[in-house]
Formats: sequence, structure tokens, C-alpha cells
Amino acid sequence: MPRHLLAAGDLDRPTAEHLLDTAARIEQAIAGREVRKLPTLRGRTVVNLFFEDSTRTRISFELAAKRLSADVINFSAKGSSVSKGESLKDTAWTLQAMGADAVVCRHSSSGAPQQLSAWVDGHVVNAGDGTHEHPTQALLDAYTLRRHLGGLQDRRIVIVGDVLHSRVARSNVLLLRTLGADVTLVAPPTLLPVGVSDWPATVSYDLDRALVGADAVMMLRVQQERMQGAFFPTAREYSRGYGLDGRRRDLLAPNGIVLHPGPMNRGMEITPQVADGANSVIVEQVTNGVTVRMAVLYLLLSGSEGAL
Ligand code: ASP
Repeated sequence: MPRHLLAAGDLDRPTAEHLLDTAARIEQAIAGREVRKLPTLRGRTVVNLFFEDSTRTRISFELAAKRLSADVINFSAKGSSVSKGESLKDTAWTLQAMGADAVVCRHSSSGAPQQLSAWVDGHVVNAGDGTHEHPTQALLDAYTLRRHLGGLQDRRIVIVGDVLHSRVARSNVLLLRTLGADVTLVAPPTLLPVGVSDWPATVSYDLDRALVGADAVMMLRVQQERMQGAFFPTAREYSRGYGLDGRRRDLLAPNGIVLHPGPMNRGMEITPQVADGANSVIVEQVTNGVTVRMAVLYLLLSGSEGAL
């Protein structure tokens, strides 16, 4: 394991598979227990340092750390000294002085967790930085895909929507490729980043064609909070070209699955019928998120497998 988890792109295949296998072992170790808790990280402190809004990721990390018996501190920028102008460096030094063993950081600036890792002795986990990466999301997606598809080698995964603003897309493309999958990105040209042709993925503008026979489709949220201009004419037009409805879902391979990292814009990138319907694993992604984050914290902080 590397010292920090900053990017899915940093993981080689053996490390990524080890993480996913560890998550599977944690799931087994906890299954059927009355008290769903392991004593592994007793006495360790995990700080959740969130400079940007989050529901599932923050709660998921909190639950993961608590299920490993760590002490958890939740720090959100709102209501802290950050709103008085404290710099990231001073915040880092404060955490360092308090002896945080791991810092889970979400920030609207790409690269903030990497910068933080230079200032603290503890392990840093990137919980989403700007439009750069969200490695634990990609790991929980890979875990979910592996459970349903049996493996990722040569599986065809289609990622659709706002690739330009999506750290989830970047992390997923890199990790899925590392794990042997074949990734197609589908988006309007205005929502693709410059240099996407260098990504290890095929790019298409034709969603129907890309979906035929695919093993899974991952819908991305249209990130309106990161959009300063108009990237498409109307929401209706976006849905018509790039939204997932029942007809399109049925183009997938017979056991093909539907993923979305959340939060969803229901009715825009995905219809409620598809989000809640057959083959949707969106709720399971949330459950798997806790297990995968337990594996990440466990491997970073305990560094061994013995205690599982
Ligand atoms: N929750 C994910 C993220 O933080 C996806 C999203 O916000 O659209 O990147």
C-alpha cells in the first residue's frame, strides 16, 4: 500500500485488487455479526476534513472508521476557523499537533489533499478534490461491478455525462482500465475535457450505440454548481441525448447493471424508473462504500492483514 491514497491513478493492479479483496474479507468478517464492529483501529484517530459539501462520502468514512473502532473527528469548514480565514497549512498543523493518524480530505481545489500530505505525518485519503480525483468512489464502483460481473477483465463499461467536471469519471476510467476493463465515455462535446483523447478510454457521442451489449453503465451527475456558462441548450435536450431511460437501459447486456455515484438529478441524467428499477445497483454502491473505505483505512493504518 502507498502511504496515502490520493488518486486511483496511483494504484497498480495488484494493489487495487488487494484493496478490493480486503474489502470482501471485511464484508465476510462482519456478515452475520450482531455487533458490526471490528476492534482493529482502537486508539487511532481519523479526522474527516471536509471543505466541500457531502452527504454520503462523509458519513461513509465516519461509519467506516467507527466500524473499525477508531475515534472519529468531523471537521467541516463551515463553522470552523477556516471561515475566519485560516489557511489549509495552519489547519494541517493543528491536526498534526493533535495527533491525527489519518486525515480524510475533501476540497474544492484539485491537489489540496496532495498538498496536505506534505504537511502532516498521518495518512491522507482523498475524498474528492475539485475536478481531479475521487479514488474511494472508483474503488467502491469497481467492488460493486466485480460482485455483479464476476470480474472486470474485458468487461465493457460505459460512463455517461458531465465528464468535464467529474472527478468520479477520471478516477473510474483510470482504475477500471488498470483492472482490465474496456471503458467508453459518452458526453456532449462541451462536457468533455481538453486532452480526453489521451485518456485510456474510447470516446463516443452516440449513447444508444455505446450501450448495446455493454456490461454496465455509470451515469454522472450534471454538476451545475461547477458550471459558469451554458454547456447544453436545455435540460430536456440533455436528457434526450444523454439521459438514461428504460428503453436505453434495455440495450445493455441481459445482466447489465446501472450505477450512479449520487447525488442524482432525477429526471435529468436518469429517470426515476431506471434509478429505482431492475438492474440498478445505486443503493448497493452506498453500502459497498462503507466496506471499501474500511479496507482503505485498515490497510493504510494497520499495514497488515493479520488482525482481520
Ligand atoms: N458525490 C460525487 C462527488 O463528490 C459525485 C457528484 O458529486 O456528482 O464527486
